[in-house]
Amino acid sequence: MIRRRITRKVMVGGVGIGGGAPVAVQSMTNTQTHDVDATVRQIRRLAEGGCDIVRIAVPEKRDTEALPAILEQSPVPVAADVHFHYERALEAIEAGAHKIRLNPGNIRDRKKVDRIIAACRDRGIPIRVGVNEGSVIERKDSDLRAAQKRSLAADYRSEMIRLMLETLEGYLRIFDESNFHDVVLSAKSIDASMVIDAYRALSERSDLPLHLGVTHAGPPETGRIRSIAAIGSLLAMGIGDTIRISYAADPIYEVEDAKELLCSLGLRSRTEPELIACPTCGRIEIDLIKLVADVRRELSTIKTPVRVAVMGCVVNGPGEAEGADIAVFAGKGRGIICVQGKQKRTVSEAEMLNALYEETLAFAQRVERGEVELSPSTVTIASADPLPRMDGSIPPAVATE
Ligand code: SF4
Repeated sequence: MIRRRITRKVMVGGVGIGGGAPVAVQSMTNTQTHDVDATVRQIRRLAEGGCDIVRIAVPEKRDTEALPAILEQSPVPVAADVHFHYERALEAIEAGAHKIRLNPGNIRDRKKVDRIIAACRDRGIPIRVGVNEGSVIERKDSDLRAAQKRSLAADYRSEMIRLMLETLEGYLRIFDESNFHDVVLSAKSIDASMVIDAYRALSERSDLPLHLGVTHAGPPETGRIRSIAAIGSLLAMGIGDTIRISYAADPIYEVEDAKELLCSLGLRSRTEPELIACPTCGRIEIDLIKLVADVRRELSTIKTPVRVAVMGCVVNGPGEAEGADIAVFAGKGRGIICVQGKQKRTVSEAEMLNALYEETLAFAQRVERGEVELSPSTVTIASADPLPRMDGSIPPAVATE
């Protein structure tokens, strides 16, 4: 059972982050933002894939000028990612962005931050304050930079975490002094174990909602392991209110993996079929790996969370497929198809894919008509005790949605 930490809740458009709201999936477009058609196309694709909030970069004025048209067509809330120019933040807020992301390493001038806070307060827009491993080292003050580098050389790991937290806390004082608390925090590193330690420390120090992520994770092949190790570990500890898995690839993979991670931990209900497959071993008598790939492709057209098992034999398969709605046990050129544990038909290897698809579709349709129930999920999520706020007070309990 995962006991989630209770944090303050902020609203990003209609999507809640923190306060017991479901963990929100985020991704980021990689189109030129001012190319409205391409950006809207990608936002729609990400939203259809299960993305709750899409972030877009607004490096130039022409990008914030494109925002009204993008926002008008976006099916999900849009966060504007601001780098160096506070004017972009003000323009994005004025255009109606649902959230702003600021990097303390880039916009530090107090007056500029105050103006952004005031504009967000007027519009009821939250701000994510996010530091990265690469952005916390001092750039202007050469003496301070040299001192930081000496400390990092002595103990990189703890010094980097200390620097990230210190940078966040210094920046947050501006928000506290302005009595502005619609804030989400992030502290990303390339190193999964540093991400875990940084967020654990953050969750002990603050009740603000946390945006989990690993920075510069790389391509999906390697970034997936790095991201799931860090984000999955934190979520399992009950830490994290929104996640962004980031890859050097089409962002739809980020959304697919984020959804699968949340479903695997029982933090999000499945809306599509779940495929279970045996790992194969020396008992295998058919090309199960190809069959699994084919079944996965075919199941993508079904939108009911049926659990489907593809098993390589009838020896251990039935036990390993326990709980599946539909299962095929393949061997010796034929497959036995079972529906919720009852044997339904025996088909040849050539018929197996079609037969499994037909049975799954028929079962899904019966579920949709209310004639049969899906096999029960075994995962339960509970709210953890509320964390004390930074001033020591205890926030009121919030019901998990
Ligand atoms: S289901 Fe059968 S073939 Fe597949 S891994 Fe288990 S024992 Fe091996």
